[in-house]
Amino acid sequence: MPTLYIDGTWTSGSGGSDEVVNPFDASVIEAVDQAGPDDVERAVAAARRAFDTGPWPRTPAAERAALLRRVADLLVRDKEEIARTETLDTGKTLVESRIDVDDVTAVFRYYADLADKDSGRLVDTGKPAVVSRVVHEPVGVCVLITPWNYPLLQLSWKVAPALAAGNTIVIKPSEVTPLTSVLLVRLLEEAGAPQGVVNILLGDGRSVGAPLTEHPGVDMVSFTGGLATGQAIVRAGASTVKRVAVELGGKNPNIVFADSVRTDGDFETVVDNAVTAVFLHAGQVCSAGARLIVEDALHDDLVAEIGRRAERIRLGNGLDEGTESGPLVSAAQRTKIEDFVASAHDEGARLVAGGHRPEEPDLQKGFFYRPTVFADVHRGMRVIREETFGPILTVERFRTEEEAIALGNDTEYGLSGGVWTGDAGRAERVARALRHGTVWINDFGPYVPAAEWGGMKRSGNGRELGPTGLAEYQEHKHIWHNTEPAPARWFVS
Ligand code: NAD
Repeated sequence: MPTLYIDGTWTSGSGGSDEVVNPFDASVIEAVDQAGPDDVERAVAAARRAFDTGPWPRTPAAERAALLRRVADLLVRDKEEIARTETLDTGKTLVESRIDVDDVTAVFRYYADLADKDSGRLVDTGKPAVVSRVVHEPVGVCVLITPWNYPLLQLSWKVAPALAAGNTIVIKPSEVTPLTSVLLVRLLEEAGAPQGVVNILLGDGRSVGAPLTEHPGVDMVSFTGGLATGQAIVRAGASTVKRVAVELGGKNPNIVFADSVRTDGDFETVVDNAVTAVFLHAGQVCSAGARLIVEDALHDDLVAEIGRRAERIRLGNGLDEGTESGPLVSAAQRTKIEDFVASAHDEGARLVAGGHRPEEPDLQKGFFYRPTVFADVHRGMRVIREETFGPILTVERFRTEEEAIALGNDTEYGLSGGVWTGDAGRAERVARALRHGTVWINDFGPYVPAAEWGGMKRSGNGRELGPTGLAEYQEHKHIWHNTEPAPARWFVS
């Protein structure tokens, strides 16, 4: 079955095919079609036509919302198949994949609800004869480029608001994990997306992603991925002054004050959340709490217990119910992690847990790496400065609130952070002082479709989710209607 969708037709394209690999055992799941340069042209032309002359941008918002609701219903119907495919493709556990599908469904419903409630506003000019209003219109042809860690979830944060706003789209998923993006496009087709409104091209960044970001027929690029790619995409968009929204990496602090632990139960809560914050999905999470920053008095006990917990994490096949964490997504990603571990050793960090591949015979074919904890780390080390995007936790210590805030902000990234404290005033002070797009107090990781998500500093320039996530895909046009025109009498001669 062809896996490219262009102008309402499934097609094989001209770029050959590529094998999609299961990271659990390096077996081939299936071969998928790859787009060639002519497919890029055809997809942009189809989206352009559908935007310039097709019904979609002119369809009442309530009808666009109805399509999004049908997609949500189909996601519920196909939940198990989609979750299984996501697990095969990414290696994450089935439990996580099911949560992802539920979250994706919620995002489609959220933007369906918002679509017809956000058409603009009247502006009071003080002139009774003038009707002045700001109307919200779609931006145009939007290219949506996504990463491999949350393939379906990240795509839904773009597709749902882009379509709710009336845009037409060309999707370019990660070449590493394209399968659930193809499934979503099949659901959009089944839900009745008009011809040319939704297109998907598979292929790598160089041959398919880059030409899309440079294309003069494209009005907007929304990208989620790594910092270096994001920088290239911002540069590529400059020549045609595209709207470019980039959602990039993170180096997220998780700050623990000693006053967060008043009972044994509190200690267990802090330990358990710190472990989950970093090792979920083998640390391949943009908002992973990879930098634990702990007050002196609690430091040694916390490090020891987190080390013990990390050693006990059960690695395995994401499809097996007993598995707590799957493999890394690819051999290349594991090599990157091994380089970080080597550099941490070289730079003098103290290894507390992990630091090697697992020894179990049934984990030898896949791209597994043991959850790893380093203590006695400092700012100069590579493992502290750069996003590792894998199962590595580093632990730093602090003495004062000011020092904790300074450490938490001492990164070029600004995506997310956590603060654990029993002092509500301190919690609010630290949360406001952190230069990160999301801050959790006495928690780490949750999000809701109605609240904005995005980065400060080099974590990006856009916002997804919430009303701002819809505004990203809208032009705000001012229409001034003078109902009683008269001579301006500016030039009188
Ligand atoms: P990546 O930058 O390597 O690739 C992302 C996508 O960009 C892929 O589809 C790839 O094919 C494409 N691409 C690569 N080069 C391109 C180019 N020159 N032009 C256009 N497209 C190109 O990222 P990745 O390794 O897939 O994902 C991991 C990164 O994503 C991490 O840094 C992570 O923090 C980030 N991420 C951020 C968020 C967020 O919400 N901020 C969410 C998830 C992941």
